[in-house]
Amino acid sequence: MKITDVKAVFPNYKHVVPSWRTNFWQIVVRVESDNGVVGFGYGGGGIASVEIVNRHFKEYLVGREVNSVEDIAAVWDTLYAASMPYGRKGLAIMALSGVDLALFDLLGKAESKPVYEVLGGAKRTKLFSYATGADSELYHKLGYKAHKFPHRWSGSEADYGSAVATAAKTREMFGPDAMLMIDTYMSWDKPVTVEMAKRLAEFNLYWYEDVLNPDDLEGQAELRPLLGSTILAGGEHEFTHHGFADIAKAGALGLWQPDITWCGGITAGLRIVELANKLDIPVSPHRGGEVWGLHLMVATDCADLAEFHSDHIKEERDILWLGEPAPENGYISPSGGPGFGVTLNEAML
Ligand SMILES: [Mg+2]
Repeated sequence: MKITDVKAVFPNYKHVVPSWRTNFWQIVVRVESDNGVVGFGYGGGGIASVEIVNRHFKEYLVGREVNSVEDIAAVWDTLYAASMPYGRKGLAIMALSGVDLALFDLLGKAESKPVYEVLGGAKRTKLFSYATGADSELYHKLGYKAHKFPHRWSGSEADYGSAVATAAKTREMFGPDAMLMIDTYMSWDKPVTVEMAKRLAEFNLYWYEDVLNPDDLEGQAELRPLLGSTILAGGEHEFTHHGFADIAKAGALGLWQPDITWCGGITAGLRIVELANKLDIPVSPHRGGEVWGLHLMVATDCADLAEFHSDHIKEERDILWLGEPAPENGYISPSGGPGFGVTLNEAML
């Protein structure tokens, strides 16, 4: 089939989380083809990324034949090369992610198959899921068996106490065997992380996430052996297999968390997972419980661990995609519907 039109849109969100995400949140990419099938993808980068798709990437897409996973990879390589002077990481790759995912949705729909079948078939039907957010009581009540809670270092010694108190409370609530993690959103530094590892050792946490600036690969590599049995995790701010190859070369992280709607879509995800598998590094994509990551995860040797984020769990939220699967009793499965198995809620555009 031939691509006949491409359009990126920034939805009319009502419940956007604060900080940078207010302006640079997720975009929708719609791809039309000459057989009448329409594919939808989800990218990052807000209105800036919408412009990249509509004013630049579209030139390379309209008229292009897409009939296989290899064709989508070739499109990816074209767009990566075309955007290289201003791209390689960040906005351009967030925009490329939306296009790539729309092409996978298109191919799945054209073949009446879910994306995981397009990728060669599901290796498993369900994934163990964990809840991310600050509302531990709610996630526990909803049946989650694994949980990641936030902690921020504000510069005060009291922050050690708040981390210990939250870890103790959460461990008590979820039980001795539950998988528990901390996300520090780049707010710890090296000495803080080493000291935290000492104070938090008794709570047997599975990973510390995003502790340093992602540019500090050397610093993260130095930290890894100092954290006992707790893994240093990260990667949501990294892009493409090239970026993850640098992480690998530095030995910076023990578990990778590419965001499939930011890092370059399924095409980049496949290349990142292939590299990780070679090095025996587990991959648990950022927001992997959302369909964009979920289809990749069930079709490849990712870790059996899918993130479900608080913005999907809370009552008051924007529902952009209709038919998204939700975890039941701590496990999540993709639907068997064509493409990613979700429908765009047009009322949000
Ligand atoms: Mg995170």
